[in-house]
Amino acid sequence: MNLATNEQYQIIKAKNPTYQDSFCYGNFNTKIFCLVTCNSKKPLQKNCIIFENIDEAFANSYRPCKGCTHIPTAQHQYTTNWIVELEQYLSENYYYDLNLDFLADNIGINKYHLVHRFKEVYQTTPINYLIEKRLAAAHTLIQNGLSISDAAFRVGFKSYHYFARCFKKHYHYSPGEIKK
Ligand SMILES: [Zn+2]
Repeated sequence: MNLATNEQYQIIKAKNPTYQDSFCYGNFNTKIFCLVTCNSKKPLQKNCIIFENIDEAFANSYRPCKGCTHIPTAQHQYTTNWIVELEQYLSENYYYDLNLDFLADNIGINKYHLVHRFKEVYQTTPINYLIEKRLAAAHTLIQNGLSISDAAFRVGFKSYHYFARCFKKHYHYSPGEIKK
């Protein structure tokens, strides 16, 4: 992990695919990282952190940008102990754009069977589990001073209003009422 050199920053600005596997970069302020070829807005050079690979970025608590979220999810391999792995996977990757079809396809089972088995073990559906993880993470972020909409987006909600509704239902008070 180091600040981008002039040379590295030029590669990022040019989205040079030759360097796709050489490094990835993150924004120090937002703690979001991207592949070299990503089309997202680039961080300023003074905020641009270079990682050797995505594992290093994850190890430093950076998360991929919306355009780069397919990378880690595609790498996950489920074994026969998929129900426990799925729970772990959801708790670590709750901010990704995950849905039942994607999860069922990756595990290689029918999605109705997936929901049924998950519910037997965890007394909730995978999607509700995901939402609760997101709400808890957003709660902490807001408490730590992040704005409500930034927190909602960062934990994986796509709609502010949907976030506010889920939050109120779960905590019985609105995100604006969180004591900082
Ligand atoms: Zn990106």
